[in-house]
Amino acid sequence: MKELVVISGKGGTGKTSLVASFAALAERKVLADCDVDAADLHLILDPDVKIREPFSGGRQARIDSAKCTACGKCLELCRFDAVIQDGIPSAVASGFRIDPINCEGCGVCARFCPDDAIAMEDCVNGEWYVSQTRFGPMVHAKLGIAAENSGRLVTLVRQQAKFVAVEQDLDLIIVDGSPGIGCPVIASITGTDLVLAVTEPTRSGLHDLDRVRQLSKHFGVPMLVCINKFDLNEAVTREIESAAAGWGTELVGRIHYDPEVTRAQIRRASVVEHTDGQVAQDVRGVWRKVSSLL
Ligand code: SF4
Ligand code: SF4
Repeated sequence: MKELVVISGKGGTGKTSLVASFAALAERKVLADCDVDAADLHLILDPDVKIREPFSGGRQARIDSAKCTACGKCLELCRFDAVIQDGIPSAVASGFRIDPINCEGCGVCARFCPDDAIAMEDCVNGEWYVSQTRFGPMVHAKLGIAAENSGRLVTLVRQQAKFVAVEQDLDLIIVDGSPGIGCPVIASITGTDLVLAVTEPTRSGLHDLDRVRQLSKHFGVPMLVCINKFDLNEAVTREIESAAAGWGTELVGRIHYDPEVTRAQIRRASVVEHTDGQVAQDVRGVWRKVSSLL
């Protein structure tokens, strides 16, 4: 079984559009949307959810009013201003409570509460799904707004995609990775077989590409490059090609800018389903090259 991950140095380079077309073109695969902070592959693939599970990515403190003696130790120790004292202690309420927005789950308050009045509880801050799409199975997830631990959720999505691949005897996992170079991207690429980095012809695109190249190199995963909308700035495209040649990174294609890509998204279709034009030929060419190198 092979695992291909498609990433980009930042959002908006066309990564997910490319993954949706790969979904249409590849045989015997499972899809994994690991862009859990801003998942959008489902908007094109319209998944029919078969399994839905909660994701618990952290812990939060909770004060048991019945045990709390209002000593104020937790208020003094919390470095995140998450302990609130907003009432006068009474027989039924201690006047102390936890602000769930500020609580980082460090556990210091629970550790030092002299009356054992603080419990650390798992908090559900997302969901993950196994779904069926018109192109086969897909594992995806949704992280709550401002929720943390997206790296753990990415790892979980990849693990579940592997289970589905084994269960259904599939040969390939196509991962829509997270943008950037942070924890979720590291979780997206570690242990995969091949990274395809999608970039665009801008100076920041070149800079971001170099950062993801260094990340892939650090984790020992070979990387290929594809330049999307290359004809919007052919001078920078040449700079990217020359940089890639200097790094020894293979360029697997250049994709023309075409407003049909946006029309495909509006129709909730992949580019190769929507058109047979030049842009679709470009995408097919990239897939042929990538699949031959997997
Ligand atoms: S440390 Fe414990 S007993 Fe003291 S105010 Fe906080 S919760 Fe209440
Ligand atoms: S768990 Fe940490 S962040 Fe949360 S209230 Fe306690 S001390 Fe503050």
